Amino acid sequence: MIMTATSNYLTHAVAADRAHVWHHLSQHKPYENTDPRVFVEGKGLKLWDAKGNEYLDAVSGGVWTVNVGYGRESIANVVRDQLIKLNYYAGAAGNVPGAMFAERLIEKMPGLSRVYYSNSGSEANEKVYKMVRQIAHRHHGGKKWKILFRERDYHGTTIATLATSGQPQRADHYGPYPDGFVIVPHCLEYRKQWNVENYGERAADAIEDVILREGPESVGCLVLEPITAGGGVIVPPPGYWERVQDICRKYDILLHIDEVVCGLGRTGTWFGYQHYGIQPDFVTMAKGVASGYAAISCTVTTERVFDLFKDAPDDVMSYFRDISTFGGCTSGPAAALENMRIIEDENLLDNTVEMGERCLSNLRSLMEKHAVIGDVRGKGLFLGAELVSDRATKEPLGEKIVQAVVARCLSQGVIIGATNRSLHGLNNTLCLSPALIASADDIDRITSAIDSALAHVLS
Ligand code: PMP
Repeated sequence: MIMTATSNYLTHAVAADRAHVWHHLSQHKPYENTDPRVFVEGKGLKLWDAKGNEYLDAVSGGVWTVNVGYGRESIANVVRDQLIKLNYYAGAAGNVPGAMFAERLIEKMPGLSRVYYSNSGSEANEKVYKMVRQIAHRHHGGKKWKILFRERDYHGTTIATLATSGQPQRADHYGPYPDGFVIVPHCLEYRKQWNVENYGERAADAIEDVILREGPESVGCLVLEPITAGGGVIVPPPGYWERVQDICRKYDILLHIDEVVCGLGRTGTWFGYQHYGIQPDFVTMAKGVASGYAAISCTVTTERVFDLFKDAPDDVMSYFRDISTFGGCTSGPAAALENMRIIEDENLLDNTVEMGERCLSNLRSLMEKHAVIGDVRGKGLFLGAELVSDRATKEPLGEKIVQAVVARCLSQGVIIGATNRSLHGLNNTLCLSPALIASADDIDRITSAIDSALAHVLS
């Protein structure tokens, strides 16, 4: 371990955390009797907590974020230099790293041309919703204001983005929600909703059914994750994306791809949508943009959309009347530039493809040993294993057992994830998303921890 802080200081930190910090996604009752886990240090895929325990992190910081791994001095140095030069200026002016990162990003995204900066995935998505609404008011006489979203997808934690949560248990209790957000069916073939051969096309046609029901003139935008993350690691079936694109074109509906998880290499391409040859109108991204070294998110769109906001220069309602205070921090784009350089120079996209295939094949071998693994799926280093109590009926394995598998991996020093209590009765998918630098040894250690955890918990 490379921890430098004194153990007294760390003991104090744990006590301070227990006394004063309200953790994300956490029920705090257990902390009345136990200490919360407090992390101190990371290097590569490794993490150390305040009690000196070492872990292999197979979830990149808990939520698919630290794509280039922990402890990157070059990012720290770039950010440090930038902060000394100019840390911040917001509003109607630019800054140098913001300009340079936008140019680099757009090089990776043919057909798109404008980058709007903010700080979180939720914020980036909500910017799109606001753009869509403004386009509706200004260019469609108030029509085309509805935004369609999909079962099992997730787009953020604010009230408007929760209004587009396809994961009911994230949104229950926080309503009422604003109008104009309409759900469409998911496309997970393993949990079939139609008995057909060309499942992808059928699932896309279900979106068209909703558009026709709502009235195409009222629908402005469709937001989808390219590969659904927390909703169960769902890779859309063949034919799905092509049909979705056709439907959007047919009804003049803007296509918004939420790349908050998939963006910046997670699936082995720069962006998840690039596996499918589609051309979105909006792409949002956050987690992997700077791998958690700074807070940054981006809403990227086309020149065509951008032009809709500059038609009447003297009219204060013609431009996008929005700001993000911390969208003016230079640390975000500075870190993002270096993050992108690392992904390129270290060939991390190739590594992601190679290690992703290894991980998928290890998981498939585990299926032969463990009947509880009903399905394994994913792309690149973005993988899931759905656990069932019966392969024939696909009855989901109970959430408590799934959590016990996660806990058992943790006790072996490997941090894995699971669909996060958001899908009434379907919180049964183990999630893996190690940093894109993962080695073959890392992958084997992760899957063998799952192997022994399943054997232990289900024995
Ligand atoms: N979109 C997706 C697909 C996500 O997974 C998340 C976060 N898990 C968000 C949006 C929201 O991002 P943030 O927490 O940064 O607001």
